This record gives sequence, structure tokens and C-alpha cells, in this order.
Amino acid sequence: MNRTVYLNGCYLPESEASISIFDRGFLMADAVYEVTPVLSGNLIELDGHLQRLQLSLDALELPNPLAISDWRQLHRQLVDINHLVDGLIYLQVTRGAAADRDFIFPDSTHTSPTVVAFTQSKPGLANNPLAETGMKIISLDDLRWGRCDIKTTQLLYPALAKRLARKAGADDAWLVRDGTITEGTSNNAYILKDGKLITRYTENAILSGVTRATVLRLAAEAGIPIEERPFTLQEALSADEAFLTSASTFIMPVVEINGQPIGTGKPGPQTRHLRARYLAACRASMS
Ligand code: PLP
Repeated sequence: MNRTVYLNGCYLPESEASISIFDRGFLMADAVYEVTPVLSGNLIELDGHLQRLQLSLDALELPNPLAISDWRQLHRQLVDINHLVDGLIYLQVTRGAAADRDFIFPDSTHTSPTVVAFTQSKPGLANNPLAETGMKIISLDDLRWGRCDIKTTQLLYPALAKRLARKAGADDAWLVRDGTITEGTSNNAYILKDGKLITRYTENAILSGVTRATVLRLAAEAGIPIEERPFTLQEALSADEAFLTSASTFIMPVVEINGQPIGTGKPGPQTRHLRARYLAACRASMS
């Protein structure tokens, strides 16, 4: 594959894009990122992702290297140049390459951030067969750091957790801290019980999902009562339905946790309804 990627103001073939070995993103995961879905060539919820990017940058005292309009144009340009139909745009901002490796943040007037963005083609992104069968989840201790609200590139524990899930014959893992489920490795976690939608409130222990915000709005519009509170693994196991959300999966039913079926063991009606509503809202935003 030879995509055209974006690096520090230039569009160039991926094989020609290179960054310094002193880049703090590489040395220290001193970097934040965003992932925006693309359906039929349209960017979905881009403004929500750009707003959260600003929050992540602010939390790490990283100046935003681009204006919102430039970010929008960059995303549009990558879709167009690469003829992306369905897929994802990944962007990453690092604190850049200082003269030497040092824990201390370099002076931002002398070290400029590194900005990278690229496309990932995912034909049929909205028709993932897992939406029909549902996902199998295992639970694992949440051993991540305490600022999961910042979307940093420190993704080793989520990657390890996904590996452990695969080894256990599951699709993914939900993480448990102090007796309650925080979120998934790369998604927000929800259960439905007696018609009520339960999901953790946003705080440092979870990423405030862009998909989550829209799903909660659509659920409220559909008259579904919402409880934003932590829930236990036991509650999840005895839920009527469970699902997860993220920019790359939208809404995915969860049908099994630690080998135990949730509800009927099949994607539940409320989850299916919410997924259909979400995708309809995406399509409506394109026209
Ligand atoms: N939680 C974590 C840890 C994530 O990595 C992600 C997405 O990557 C999410 C939640 C879902 O966020 P969004 O819906 O904005 O993709």
C-alpha cells in the first residue's frame, strides 16, 4: 500500500514520511491522538473528535498546532487524495523532538509538535458482521494509569489486554477497577437492565467517548431512561443486554462475558435499535 499521509504540513507517500528518533511521542508516548470514522467518503463526528483533541492537548500543556478549520481541511484532503470510502482517519500530535532525551518538557517556543495523520481503509465499516453475532468479552484488572480521560498514545496495556482476550477465545476485554467496570480496552461499556441504560459517568477513569455522547443523546430522545453510574461485573453478568461504543465499531452488542451469556446470548432488541438509530443519524448528517 502506498497511501498519501500528512506529516507536519506536507502530504507525501507513506514510504517517504519519517520522524526523528528523538521524537517524544516515540521515546515517551508524549502524544495524543484521535480516530474519526469515514462512511461513504463522509467524516463522522469530526467536530466532536477535534473538541476532545483540544481537551487532551490542554491536559498535557501541548499547544494545538492547527486551527480547527485547518484540521477539518486536512481530514477532508486525506479522504479525497486517498479516495477513502469507508474507514478511519488517525491523527497524532506529539510534543516533538527536543535536542536530547529528557523527562522535562522542552520549551515549546523551541520545540515544535509533530503532527501526523493517515487513512485506514475499512470497507463495509458499518456492516461489521460482529454487529449480528455480538462480541465475546472477558474481564481484566484495569492496570492503566489514572488519567484515562486523556487520549494519549500510551496503549500498551490495552494492546496487552486485547491479546489476552484473543488468547482466551474472546473478542475484547472490559476493565475492572475497585470492583466496577470502567470501560473497554478501546471502547465505552454499557448494560441495559429492566429497560434502563446504565453506563459509567465521565471522569478520569474513562475516556469521554464521542460516540458515547451521541448514543446517550439518541437514547434520551428514544425515551430510554439513563443512569450514569459505575456498575459491577456481577450486574453486567445479570443484565438483559450489554454493548460497547467507539468510533471504529459504532455500537456493538456484547453477548458473552467471561464465558457467560448476557440475556439471551444474542444481540438484544434495544442494542439493535440504538445501533440502527446511531447509523441513521450518521447518514442524516452526511446529506
Ligand atoms: N475508551 C477508550 C479507552 C478508547 O480508546 C476509546 C476509543 O478509542 C473509547 C473509549 C471510545 O471513544 P470514541 O467513541 O470517541 O471512539
